Amino acid sequence: MATNRQMMVMAGDGIGPEVMTATLKVVDWLAKHRSISFDISEGLVGGAAYDKSGSPLTDETLADAMAADAVLFGAVGGPEYDDLPFELKPERALLGLRKEMDLFANLRPALVFPPLVSASSLKPEIVSGLNIVIVRELTGGIYFAEPRGRDTDANGMVRAFDTNMYTPPEIERIGRVAFDLARKRDGAVMSVEKANVMHSGVLWREVMTALHAAEGEGVSLSHMYADNCAMQLVRNPRQFDVIVTDNLFGDLLSDCAAMLTGSLGMLPSASLGAIDETTGKRHALYEPVHGSAPDIAGQGLANPLAQVLSLAMLLRYSFDQGDDAELLERAVEKALDGELRTGDIMADGCTQTGTDGMIGAVLDSLDALAR
Ligand code: NAD
Repeated sequence: MATNRQMMVMAGDGIGPEVMTATLKVVDWLAKHRSISFDISEGLVGGAAYDKSGSPLTDETLADAMAADAVLFGAVGGPEYDDLPFELKPERALLGLRKEMDLFANLRPALVFPPLVSASSLKPEIVSGLNIVIVRELTGGIYFAEPRGRDTDANGMVRAFDTNMYTPPEIERIGRVAFDLARKRDGAVMSVEKANVMHSGVLWREVMTALHAAEGEGVSLSHMYADNCAMQLVRNPRQFDVIVTDNLFGDLLSDCAAMLTGSLGMLPSASLGAIDETTGKRHALYEPVHGSAPDIAGQGLANPLAQVLSLAMLLRYSFDQGDDAELLERAVEKALDGELRTGDIMADGCTQTGTDGMIGAVLDSLDALAR
C-alpha cells in the first residue's frame, strides 16, 4: 500500500546489514500494530556500492536519498577497503551524503538506560538518569573552512593549517535546532565554544546570545568554554539538557558523552538539514554511532539497539511520531530489563545472545507494551 512516508534504507557494510535486517522487523511490527507504514527503497552504500559499481555512493543512490523523507543508514567500511584511494573509501559515502544533503545539524543523545547504569565507566550515582543531547554543527568550521592545507614557509619550513571559520547564518541555524529541541525537553541550552581564545568563539557567543534574545522564548541559554564542558561532562553530566557547539568541539564532546552511557552498540544519531519553507520537509539521515565492526561482522553477534534507537529518532524528527518513538525507546529499556544481552552490554546474571535474540526481546517487549 502506498504511503506518504518515503524511507530510504542503506545498510552498508560489516554489521550494517545485520542490524538493519533486525531493525526492519521493528518497522514491520509498527506497520502491523500501529498502522505506520513506509514506502521503503533500498540503496547500496560504502564498500557494498564500491564492489558493485566502483563508487561508494552513486549519483542514483544520492538522488534517491535526496528524494526520500528520511534515510536510515547502517554503517560503512572494512579492512578490505583500507588500500583504496581516499575518494573511493566507503566512509566517503557518508561525507558525500552529509555534504550533498546539507545535513548541518548532528544530534547525538547520550541516555543511560537504568538497566545499563553499571556499563558506564563513571559511578552509577553520577550517570543514573542521564539524558542529554549534543547538537553539533556538522558542515562548517575547521573541517571545511578555507584556507586549509600544507605548504612551505619562506625559510623552507613545512607547515600545515586549518581554519575555524563561522558566519552568523551558520551559527543561527544550528542555534535554532538546539532551541527547538530544548523546547521539547527541559528547555535548557548550553552553548559551548572557546570565546576566551578564539575569534570564531567570540562570534559564536555573540550570535547565540542575539538569537536567544530574538527567538529563544521558553528556553534558557548559558555559555561554557569547551575545555570546562569536557570536564563537567565527566564530573556532573546531569547538569546538561541540550549542548550546542561547533564541528570540532562537537566531535570531541559527543564521543566523550557517548562513553558515559557504556556501549557503542546503544548510541543512535540524527543528521538534519534545513526545513524547506515550501514543503515543510527537511533532509535527514539517521544512523548508529558505531561503525561496521569488522571484528564481529557476519557472526550474528552485533547489538541492534543503536539502529533501533536511530529508527526511533527518525519517527520523532522526520515524521513527528513522538509517541511511537517513545514506545520503541520503552521497548528497548524493557528488553534490557530482561536477561538477554549481546556481548557488548553483557552483565553478571544475564544470558548472552546475538542480534536475533536481542531484537526478539525488543519485539516481545513491544507486544507486551502494546497489550
Ligand atoms: P566500530 O564502531 O566499528 O567498532 C568498535 C568496537 O565496538 C569493535 O570492537 C566492535 O565490535 C564494537 N561494536 C561496534 N558496534 C557494535 C555493535 N552494534 N554491537 C556490538 N559491538 C559493537 O569502530 P572501528 O572498529 O573503529 O571501525 C570499523 C570500521 O567502521 C572502519 O572501517 C571505520 O572507518 C568504520 N566506521 C564507520 C562509521 C559509520 O559508518 N558511520 C563510523 C565509525 C567507523
